[in-house]
Amino acid sequence: MSSFLLIIIAVAGLVAAALLWKKKDDLDFSDPTLEHELEDTRVTPLLRGINYLLSDKPDQALQEMVQVAKIRSESAEVYMALGEMFRTQGEYGRAVRIHQNLLARPEVSLEFQFQAYVSLGRDFQAGGLLDRALKHYAKALAIQPDHLESLHACLRIREQSNEWDEAEWLVSRLEQVENQSYHEHRAYLKVEMANDALVKHDIVLAEALLDEALKLSIGCSHAHLLRIELLQKDNNFEQAVKQTESFLSDVKQEHHVLLPKVLLQNLTFYEQYAKPFLLNYWQTNKNMELGVAWVEQIAKAIDLPVAISLQKELNLSDLSLRHELRLMALQDGSDNLHKQAREWRLLSKMFACKQCGVQVHDMRWHCPKCHHWGTMEPLQGAYAFGEEQHAQ
Ligand SMILES: [Zn+2]
Repeated sequence: MSSFLLIIIAVAGLVAAALLWKKKDDLDFSDPTLEHELEDTRVTPLLRGINYLLSDKPDQALQEMVQVAKIRSESAEVYMALGEMFRTQGEYGRAVRIHQNLLARPEVSLEFQFQAYVSLGRDFQAGGLLDRALKHYAKALAIQPDHLESLHACLRIREQSNEWDEAEWLVSRLEQVENQSYHEHRAYLKVEMANDALVKHDIVLAEALLDEALKLSIGCSHAHLLRIELLQKDNNFEQAVKQTESFLSDVKQEHHVLLPKVLLQNLTFYEQYAKPFLLNYWQTNKNMELGVAWVEQIAKAIDLPVAISLQKELNLSDLSLRHELRLMALQDGSDNLHKQAREWRLLSKMFACKQCGVQVHDMRWHCPKCHHWGTMEPLQGAYAFGEEQHAQ
């Protein structure tokens, strides 16, 4: 029998004990009819439920146990715990049924309704039914408008669904409730809105949104990079260089590696403006991470011989094992070492979230695990963040 069933049986046992204890307190045992009646309505379904569990029929068991929860309010908290347990086991449908049945009980208190709505929000969110999750969090928020968990959960869902306006509204609510600024988060949302505007060919709106993003946070790397892209497309090369300059001075150095890819989108711009500018910058800022990324991007956007000649020009030195492997992976050598390097490069994660440590292959602005914005940074050195600890 699974530990899951054992836990349910333990919970059911608790409910039975609670009911019998309550019965002892409440009742006059001199009235055998009443005692018998209560045993029927409360305990018998529970015992039937346990029997069903033992015969591995969890659905029937649930049906019986929900009957008990409907009848007795004392058991509500125990059933709430049972619902939580179903969810953590991935049994979202059963968790939903428990919570919905609790809500359906007569005379359910407002506090209890609130808890059931939050739980249903969690059940549906965990089960991937995001619209229904939002609906239940909204009901919870109608009772407790400042409930942080529900606000954060709704924000996560809106961001997951690329609903940036709604996400921004939630960020404003969180700013009010938590009394703290979310300006950086808001800046990244503005860039996503700008991206959407570009898809609809609304350049004016996209530019205005990028302005807003940079006003909110001058360190918002994504806003700088998207603006450099736009200026290149607009053949406004001088402004594109100025924006590049601002990027290099205003955003964290870990994000500098993202620059070469963007500067290479228009090769005329790259040759005439970006390359001389970057070479000049390189004279005083020899960031090897940037140098390696630059060489890699040249190999992709132009060809290998140009990449190799840049590598010589930059005179890359003091490289880490990761850097050496990346450069080796670029070359078309047919020996084992080169083959393995290419395979490693293909499979290896290149970025890690500074906040939660999750690693991803390609750069992401929004961490898929902790949901922070702009926290992904290139993996440095020979090891990954997490691996370093194991290696010691
Ligand atoms: Zn993270």
